[in-house]
Amino acid sequence: MHDGERPWLTELRALFPNDRVSTNPTVLEQHSHDESYHPPHLPDAVVFPKSTEEVARLLRFANARRIPVIPFGVGSSLEGHVVPVRGGISLDLTRMNRILDVRPADFLVHVEAGMTRTALNRALARHGLFFSVDPGADATLGGMAATNASGTTAVRYGVMRDQVRGMTVVLADGRVIRLGGPYVKSSSGYDLKQLFLGSEGTLGVITSLWLRVFGLPEAAYAARATFPSVRQAVEAAHAMLRYGLALARVELVDRTSIRQMNAMKGTTYPEADTLFLEFHGSPAALEADLPAAEAIARDGGATAFEIEREKEARDRLWEARHHLAYAYLHAHPGKKQLVTDVCVPLSVLADGIELARRELEARGLEGGVLGHIGDGNFHTIVMIDADDPADVARAEGLHEALVRYALSVGGTATGEHGVGLGKLKYQAEEHGEALSLMQAIKRLLDPAGILNPGKKIPLPPDESTG
Ligand SMILES: Cc1cc2nc3c(=O)[nH]c(=O)nc-3n(C[C@H](O)[C@H](O)[C@H](O)COP(=O)(O)OP(=O)(O)OC[C@H]3O[C@@H](n4cnc5c(N)ncnc54)[C@H](O)[C@@H]3O)c2cc1C
Repeated sequence: MHDGERPWLTELRALFPNDRVSTNPTVLEQHSHDESYHPPHLPDAVVFPKSTEEVARLLRFANARRIPVIPFGVGSSLEGHVVPVRGGISLDLTRMNRILDVRPADFLVHVEAGMTRTALNRALARHGLFFSVDPGADATLGGMAATNASGTTAVRYGVMRDQVRGMTVVLADGRVIRLGGPYVKSSSGYDLKQLFLGSEGTLGVITSLWLRVFGLPEAAYAARATFPSVRQAVEAAHAMLRYGLALARVELVDRTSIRQMNAMKGTTYPEADTLFLEFHGSPAALEADLPAAEAIARDGGATAFEIEREKEARDRLWEARHHLAYAYLHAHPGKKQLVTDVCVPLSVLADGIELARRELEARGLEGGVLGHIGDGNFHTIVMIDADDPADVARAEGLHEALVRYALSVGGTATGEHGVGLGKLKYQAEEHGEALSLMQAIKRLLDPAGILNPGKKIPLPPDESTG
């Protein structure tokens, strides 16, 4: 997979201090894969920049020599996004991890792109503030911006796209541009910031971000409601949203996933289709909302409704939810995961989830369904033997059935994980004529095709570098 040292490596090493360029086999291996089943591929080198200027220097060097550059956060993505399929340089941003400015009065923070969301939240807590987007994994803020990540709290606070006020981006040829800034709104120029959000490292490298932050809620309570079916759970959740309750998270965990959770975390949650809920607000408002939520759940067929007021119990509940993917991996040693990510109109969400369950059973696949059901976005975790082509094909068949379903009801192939390699084949069908405009933008911003080649947007093979 790795065909010896490239001639340009000597020049590359001369451009940076010693500790910034690595060809150590362990470091190359760490940058050869993400958290998915997509086959790994080694980069030729990993570069660890410490400033926007160093990123620009690297891109000028790589662009002149048509060397692929793959921006890398912590590699927690799920569709092969960071796999250097054509070798080249993995650009690891994690040493750019400083807070540049905190402005509590403006509800804003300015960070370098390699900072992780939990490190940011630790620093914000002393100001009584928090950053809301929570994809579970301890991802970098640059990686989250580049995938337009969301997760459990989007139903209340919005997705990454809603939080980014400004950014610094280095273009493929090394030009540095600043987009947006520390203000709430603007009608000036074209909103290029939105173009880079969700661009998966294919249009530029994000080096800093101005992010919206929120005041820590006075109170946060969690609850678990169990139901006889996923349909009843979904309908009850949507009734709670219609009622205007102070919901900050509305997550579905199906009965198979609860079993995995109990087995790994030692929890004793009933093995039933379950809603994990969280409410944010003043204690008085929440004390009024909780009985209303329970009444809606029980009207909808809930067999139990357990409230967790203590922070420790609440943290345990969300930790169990967030570690679910690892619970599946733990229970299936040697297997990898394929995770679907469709997002559909709320009115047909229950149909989609039922289809996912039927597809798992009909194909004899091991896995379960969980969902950010306030957003119409759900995941099917499918455990596969990545070395068995028949197993991979069965799982990809399920993936395809769900994407086709989502597109047929006006939904999207990916609500939050992004395209990477795994959803490239659906882009033409989903975007139609708009895809040609996307390809033209890619050609304009990255004419040599060096930025994360082979991902996000299908292009003829001769247009990408490598
Ligand atoms: C257990 C688990 C649960 C998850 N749950 C969720 C979830 O609920 N919601 C969700 O949205 N995601 C989820 N994810 C996916 C993943 O955590 C997100 O996609 C995250 O945003 C990736 O961040 P990262 O730092 O790991 O980026 P990486 O995986 O390193 O990179 C992701 C993409 O962004 C590009 N990139 C990285 N940094 C930059 C930069 N500075 N400039 C330009 N491009 C860059 C890369 O080239 C790549 O294409 C989950 C993953 C796991 C493992």
